[in-house]
Amino acid sequence: MKDAQLVAELVRPEIAEMAAYKPIVPFEVLSERLGIPPDQIVKVDANENPYGPSPRAIAALAGYPYYHIYPDPHHTLLRKALSEYLGVGREYLLFGCGADELLDLVVRLFIRPGDAIINCPPTFGMYSFLSELSGARVIAVPRREDFSVGVAAVESAVAAEQPKLVFITSPNNPDGSVLSPSDLERLLALPVVIVLDQAYVEFGGDDYAGWVPNHANLIVLRTFSKWAGLAGLRVGYGVFPPPIVEQLIKIKQPYNVNAAAQAAVLASLDDLDTLRARVRTLVAERERLYAGLKEIEYLRPYPSHANFVLSRVLGRDAGALKRALERRGVLVRYYRTPRLRDCIRISVGTPEQNERVLSVLREIGEEGGE
Ligand code: PMP
Repeated sequence: MKDAQLVAELVRPEIAEMAAYKPIVPFEVLSERLGIPPDQIVKVDANENPYGPSPRAIAALAGYPYYHIYPDPHHTLLRKALSEYLGVGREYLLFGCGADELLDLVVRLFIRPGDAIINCPPTFGMYSFLSELSGARVIAVPRREDFSVGVAAVESAVAAEQPKLVFITSPNNPDGSVLSPSDLERLLALPVVIVLDQAYVEFGGDDYAGWVPNHANLIVLRTFSKWAGLAGLRVGYGVFPPPIVEQLIKIKQPYNVNAAAQAAVLASLDDLDTLRARVRTLVAERERLYAGLKEIEYLRPYPSHANFVLSRVLGRDAGALKRALERRGVLVRYYRTPRLRDCIRISVGTPEQNERVLSVLREIGEEGGE
């Protein structure tokens, strides 16, 4: 029997040195810790859809007869249905275990150790995480004060670093700002692949999926996690130039989208009226939440095109605010990074949840700082 030290030394050193990813505390664990029943907790920390899956998706999951059979590795029915939904040929489409898996596959397809990628923080953490895991040099081109992408700065960084990939998010997580068509045109003129993450596009901003057939260097990633309420089933998709689809199919796991997820996606695409009505409600609620946050003297919300609102916290500690909310059963997202250390992000909930969030924030305001 070899000792643990020897085994530890066999681990790739760059991984052994990496800091561990800090996941959010699971809902049930937190409920127990706080002594608050799950149904009284307002979970607005992960941009989930408070309405859950469509009723047809739930019925399809319950009635699906073939869970004992491996799922279709080519996602044939899904690609057909999605092609009709998007108005883009099915040869452009590929599904993944969440948009996260597609990000992982794209990085693995293009990046060798030492290659460069451009990331525009503050943004979704997965791009830098996956790129670092592949040994990429992650070149940060920070967003401007209003969170818009500094396109000229990206152009200079591309000239200086010759990256292979540029990651852009529109609407951006965590602030909800969007990329304009003219900025995207400029980025697409660069000698790189633009990976455009549109996980929240159903809630606002220009939808660029239809641009892919005219641009050999554009990838648009989307998901069923947010607008369709399927985050727990893990299913996302990408719109890729067909030559990239061909390469990705070679490296993806054959059964990357499980049978339940496939059944739920088909049923969701057959229940668009319901899902779109929910999206409209969430968009209206976002505006109401934004207006309510603006009225709270210690918060400065940013306008958002997604299903969340980022607010700067003035004159008090944002981390302490997050904990005060948590004690009252309201879970929001807080960041420790330098640019977001004084911010909280609140996902849009149901009208009742949003009302509760606003009233707890007002209550905390009246009590003064912690
Ligand atoms: N992109 C962005 C910008 C996100 O915020 C998220 C979810 N937090 C994802 C992708 C991941 O989507 P999925 O659930 O489909 O993996």
